[in-house]
Amino acid sequence: MTKKVRVRFAPSPTGPLHIGGLRTALFNYLFAKRNGGDFVVRIEDTDRNRYIEGSEKHIMDSLKWCGLTIDEGPENKGSYGPYRQSERKKLYETKIQELLKKGRAYYAFDKKEDLDFHRKDHEKKGKTFMYNAHNRKKLNNSLSLSVEETNKLVNSGAEHVIRFKTPAKQEVICKDELRGVVRVSTETIDDKILFKSDGMPTYHFANVIDDYEMEISHVIRGEEWLPSLPLHWLLYEAFGWDNKPKFVHLPLILKPVGKGKLSKRDGDKSGFPVFAIQWENEGVIKGYKEHGYLPETVINFLSLLGWNPGSEKEIFTLKELVEVFSLENLNKSGARFDPEKNEWFNHSHIQKTGGRQITSRLKNDFFDFVSKDDDKRLHKITELIRPRLNTLNDVFKASRFFFENPENYSEKQFKKLKKSNYKEILEGIIIQIDSTKDLNSFKSSLEELVLKNEWNFGKVMGLLRLSLVGELSGPDLFDIVALLGKDVCTFRIKLLLKAFDTIDV
Ligand code: GLU
Repeated sequence: MTKKVRVRFAPSPTGPLHIGGLRTALFNYLFAKRNGGDFVVRIEDTDRNRYIEGSEKHIMDSLKWCGLTIDEGPENKGSYGPYRQSERKKLYETKIQELLKKGRAYYAFDKKEDLDFHRKDHEKKGKTFMYNAHNRKKLNNSLSLSVEETNKLVNSGAEHVIRFKTPAKQEVICKDELRGVVRVSTETIDDKILFKSDGMPTYHFANVIDDYEMEISHVIRGEEWLPSLPLHWLLYEAFGWDNKPKFVHLPLILKPVGKGKLSKRDGDKSGFPVFAIQWENEGVIKGYKEHGYLPETVINFLSLLGWNPGSEKEIFTLKELVEVFSLENLNKSGARFDPEKNEWFNHSHIQKTGGRQITSRLKNDFFDFVSKDDDKRLHKITELIRPRLNTLNDVFKASRFFFENPENYSEKQFKKLKKSNYKEILEGIIIQIDSTKDLNSFKSSLEELVLKNEWNFGKVMGLLRLSLVGELSGPDLFDIVALLGKDVCTFRIKLLLKAFDTIDV
């Protein structure tokens, strides 16, 4: 019988959720949803030295903002909990006792100074010190001491760790679903610490126990964990568990330019966000959200970092991704991060789904008085400015003139148009506006006026646009006229007339 698909995203709360981690969460989510499985979030917080306040919240809030709903996790119910490793200590204690009894793990009492001495001594000889089958009998541990001596030390509370007894001279044959079979000699694996002197399990131990206990079917994680796979494999074997999960190690996300993995510093240097949402615990570092990106965008560009849909299609919603995601289309090689292309993704998603967000930005962030306006007008403005937006933060600039008179005029255009017969034209337009019954048909009414006076149409449009917008850009001029209404248009034309009369250029 095939196992139910159960995947986990297992972040450590050692800082904010970086987009690399978010991509891991996304691929786990997509795989789970594609296969009718469960998406589990497990907080791996056994390393208290690296714990950073606020990170768990940042992780959970980032997932929420991106719409990655969690089936089981610290804030959700589930029958495999608790979902924070710090709350699962009892389980690890039982499990380590099991390995000790089986002779697959042992107590080690070596002092830090002694191990440092061995390390340095090896370095001098051009070698690397490894705690393993070759020397463990000469070191201070339960394999070199008698049972009585060991018990005495443990019972008296002597500081100790528990190490894995890595089998000597064995070839570990493990499998990564993406890369195939990986063969590693146990000669290259040291006796890793499974339990630390503070009584907490290490990542390797707790991670394997939990994947097994939580019946995880597929471990999908970053490539940086590939070197740990043989150890994890050996731990499964030491316990005698043969139904291991399948392992998939995702390719690295590479810097926009140059060699190496994308880091937080790349974002700082080049001014692009590396978090989904703002991180506030070490000063404020803005995320994609605060830069005016839609969650749909972030999901979309992350999905294409290391995976391809097998077609030319690039714009996907989360729902569409669930429909097409498969592990077969993962790439092995690193994926280059392209912050400029992300803006294009955002532009596309704003056209596709951004209406509601644009309206709420207009209302909440920029023009709090706008709520007094009727929703229909706001909706029209949203639709007009939408094609001009790369980020939601462009909303202010793109729509300002709908709410405020131009504060100043584009200098170049002002200068140029001042030389024209502006007075005659602008005064003519004022009269025409006044006599036009419905501003929705102002286009033909203006065309008539221009024809009658043999004016230059381009110049007339330029003058009208400059008066209403302050510059020669923006959406269709007649849509603007209709939305602003007669009074505002007339008032702004008069403002421009006055400016031409009073400002010398
Ligand atoms: N806690 C590990 C991390 O933060 C998880 C690695 C894994 O998925 O096994 O990356």
